[in-house]
Amino acid sequence: MNWEIVIGLEIHAQLSTQSKLFSGAPVSFGAEANTQTTLVDLGMPGALPVFNKEALRMAVMFGHAVNADIGMTSVFARKNYFYPDLPKGYQTSQMDDPIVGIGHLDVTLEDGTTKRVGITRAHLEEDAGKSLHEDFHGMSGIDLNRSSTPLLEIVSEPDIRSAKEAVAYVKMIHSIVTYLGICDGNMAEGSMRCDVNISLRPKGQEEFGTRTEIKNVNSFRFIEKAIHTEVERQADILEDGGKITQETRLYDPDKDETRSMRSKEDANDYRYFPCPDLLPVVLTQEYVDEIKASLPELPTQKAARFISEYKLSEYDAGVLSSSRPMADYFEKVNKSAGDTKLSANWVMGELSKLLNQNQLDINDSPVDANNLGLLLARIKDNTINGKTAKDILADMWNGEGSADEIIEKKGLKQVTDTGAIEAMIQEIIVANPAQVEQFRAAEADKQKKMMGFFMGQIMKASQGKANPGIVTPILMKLLKG
Ligand code: ADP
Ligand code: MG
Repeated sequence: MNWEIVIGLEIHAQLSTQSKLFSGAPVSFGAEANTQTTLVDLGMPGALPVFNKEALRMAVMFGHAVNADIGMTSVFARKNYFYPDLPKGYQTSQMDDPIVGIGHLDVTLEDGTTKRVGITRAHLEEDAGKSLHEDFHGMSGIDLNRSSTPLLEIVSEPDIRSAKEAVAYVKMIHSIVTYLGICDGNMAEGSMRCDVNISLRPKGQEEFGTRTEIKNVNSFRFIEKAIHTEVERQADILEDGGKITQETRLYDPDKDETRSMRSKEDANDYRYFPCPDLLPVVLTQEYVDEIKASLPELPTQKAARFISEYKLSEYDAGVLSSSRPMADYFEKVNKSAGDTKLSANWVMGELSKLLNQNQLDINDSPVDANNLGLLLARIKDNTINGKTAKDILADMWNGEGSADEIIEKKGLKQVTDTGAIEAMIQEIIVANPAQVEQFRAAEADKQKKMMGFFMGQIMKASQGKANPGIVTPILMKLLKG
């Protein structure tokens, strides 16, 4: 059968506020259990929530970034369910009147085309606590540090048609929330989690098939793998004449399979009702406009500027604008190097290679952007060549000082004195009579290729310090005799 894949995503982004959504307790990761809590987070009767204004501002920022209607009156609702790590017996969320309404996102796909994905809504809600099963023999521990941590749940329309599109969409949301500075985007720590809704329908059919929801997929790679696995499972069932059960499933990356978790609950199972402890949130147009005016440059805008301002290729601009730290780093390098193409190549090439090898984030690079730029400036002004620069970068990485200090200390200055270079070339010509004769007998295009041999000899003799731009014409002249 020829199936069309239909995907809609729910992304939970943890907002980077100092304190919780409804209390003054700090939001932090990895603290000792139950130390980051107030009476509100513990769900003590009579403790009243106070809404965090900063979370509101962040949600409105996001709404603007995805071209959405802002909910001028939004309402918190209680979503009732029992779970040991939810002592209140309900999660405070938003139902009918979310803070962010209908919007859309134009997602750039791998092949450079754009796909518009509808945003259904984005609402504010609090996280629950955590149940701990290790270290408690025959019992469970409850840690409420995460309780009332602010989340923005971003719901997409079922507009996505492949695993690749899904990953591109999540990456784009990831770069938007990190650009806005409203979420740290750390998927491994759970700051961004993704529920993937998947169904299949025969190609050409209008009506959607029954979907399953894969909960809490926490990396881009797993999103792609989970989708492939689930699509295959559903196709097998449908092709055998079976029916898909609407349910919540879990993806197990070790076994590369999805497993049933629970049957799908409906909204009315939760007995949603407006929270009597919290007033509706009413915004003024002035407040909403002011946030819009203060939005930082977003990834697609930055990429467009890199193309127009720095004349970067679309590909380079895309890579360099994919994260804000990367973009900022590149712009700083460029400022001190004074050469856009050189800066782009080195940030995407040598620097990224070193960061990957050492599993470091660009923010933690031991070589800061200004210093890398100063190194590149020495290539540009012919003090060193590219090969020497790579060695110097390795030394800078190991904390041996700035480019200029290393050049000075190790005597790496490129030889640009034409007299010295000419003498060196003469020596090499004398030492390699057979090659010189061959060169002189060869045709012009063959000669070009043979230059490599002599260039190699010269670089060896000069320990890589001869300036190729100066060597080439002199070498050509002397070889031709
Ligand atoms: P619920 O409230 O039960 O979570 P929603 O209607 O809000 O359900 O949808 C949740 C997510 O599921 C949305 O991202 C939506 O795009 C997606 N979705 C809905 N129907 C389908 C379907 N048939 N196939 C795939 N995804 C779907
Ligand atoms: Mg849902």
